Amino acid sequence: MIDPVLKRALKTWGEEPQMLMVVEEMSELMKEVLKNINRKKDNIAEIIEETADVEIMLAQLKENYHIFEQVESYKKNKIKKIEERLNQWDKEHSAA
Ligand SMILES: [Mg+2]
Repeated sequence: MIDPVLKRALKTWGEEPQMLMVVEEMSELMKEVLKNINRKKDNIAEIIEETADVEIMLAQLKENYHIFEQVESYKKNKIKKIEERLNQWDKEHSAA
């Protein structure tokens, strides 16, 4: 369920501006992750901030497209598949 404040933000500022903000925040997080890895920058504070920004915007994206339940269901299945791949990986890479 979306935080009522975020629902209000979507209604007040509009669908298109908020969906563009999703992309903008994702690019900010990408930038910080790249700085951290490529330039070995100590920017955990920035990564925390941008991760929070992205999560806030993803909540509005799910509200905008009415896809919260579908995303939850897809995530559940995806995590199950990842687990299967991990189990297979362990089997193939375990010391015999
Ligand atoms: Mg940001």
